[in-house]
Amino acid sequence: MTAQLIDGNALSKQVRAEVAQRAAALVAKSGKKPGLAVVLVGDNPASQVYVRNKVKACEDVGFHSVLEKYEAAMTEAELLARVEALNNDPSIHGILVQLPLPKHIDDHKVIEAISPAKDVDGFAVESAGALMVGEPGFKACTPYGCMKMLESIGMKNLRGKHAVVIGRSNIVGKPMAMMLLAADATVTVCHSGTADLAAITRQADVIVAAVGKRKVLTADMVKPGAVVIDVGMNRNDEGKLCGDVDFDGVKEVAGWITPVPGGVGPMTITMLLVNTMESAERAFG
Ligand code: NAP
Repeated sequence: MTAQLIDGNALSKQVRAEVAQRAAALVAKSGKKPGLAVVLVGDNPASQVYVRNKVKACEDVGFHSVLEKYEAAMTEAELLARVEALNNDPSIHGILVQLPLPKHIDDHKVIEAISPAKDVDGFAVESAGALMVGEPGFKACTPYGCMKMLESIGMKNLRGKHAVVIGRSNIVGKPMAMMLLAADATVTVCHSGTADLAAITRQADVIVAAVGKRKVLTADMVKPGAVVIDVGMNRNDEGKLCGDVDFDGVKEVAGWITPVPGGVGPMTITMLLVNTMESAERAFG
């Protein structure tokens, strides 16, 4: 292996320790804890694991956390009323509605109902717009975590670097491209309609793969020494978690690489804590 590993677990631990210190300082100053509300509708098994992990992470850093679980039969109006109540709850600084929602509920309507001051997932249009124009707002946690990983290897400023993002979803690819641009990278965004993906990725100093397909990025597609960030979460033939990157091949060419698991995944929850902390600090001046 020539590439160095960007260890998401180790970096998460460090960032979460900083958040715990900030939370303790806030309690000492104001007597108030940062508060995160996680709302789960239905019994999607993966969502249940995600929300448990988020609530546990809050407890570990000394936050107040609330988990609201509802039956899949909950109506859209009932959910919107819960979001409104949380918007008005002064003990809550961040609201996360776990997606996907049951089919009869409009995801977009619910996300847009969250107050921009508490949109710690950064999924609402106002948060995306703030990122685009460089205004303060909450950044989507997964790409924000990727930026933190780049920062951890001395790549906070990307002036003169070419970053290639594979994927253009609203929750990963697009905000990722905006964050890289804000860090002065020259950014190319690729997607399913891109012709000759390899010709583009081979020019990249930084590659972020956010596709959801195994082995979308192989060793022959990577410039020697490039930084490779793997957002993908897939299952291999043995049912084990794997990313979008052919890790075994690419690690022989890249300069830095994130593993799956233990890479971007833990950083996503960590940045949710960072955003909630930030929201509480804003609320208490
Ligand atoms: P998504 O909404 O399905 O978007 C996938 C993107 O990949 C789309 O823009 C699609 O292009 C593009 N694409 C598909 N096939 C391609 C190909 N062969 N070549 C180039 N681009 C291709 O997925 P997402 O929500 O962004 O998530 C992407 C992956 O990241 C998934 O595996 C997901 O589970 C994972 N994820 C991980 C975390 C984490 O915390 N680690 C968080 C979020 C997501 P079109 O737009 O043209 O369809």
